[in-house]
Amino acid sequence: MATKQYKQLGCLDVQPAGGCGFQVRAETEAELLQLVATHAKQCHKLESIPQEMVTQVKAAIKTVPVTV
Ligand SMILES: [Zn+2]
Repeated sequence: MATKQYKQLGCLDVQPAGGCGFQVRAETEAELLQLVATHAKQCHKLESIPQEMVTQVKAAIKTVPVTV
């Protein structure tokens, strides 16, 4: 077992009024953004994430320790 630093983001961190409890973790920011883009497309009908939202997402990313 080891502890790794993961990037974490929840939909509520970006859209507090959205009421979406989706939360995602990934090892890198690029991977996280990929997962967020997939979720945005499937659940929020966003074909692509606007640049301003990317900025919001990046600002809201937290780094959390995860035991793997
Ligand atoms: Zn969502």
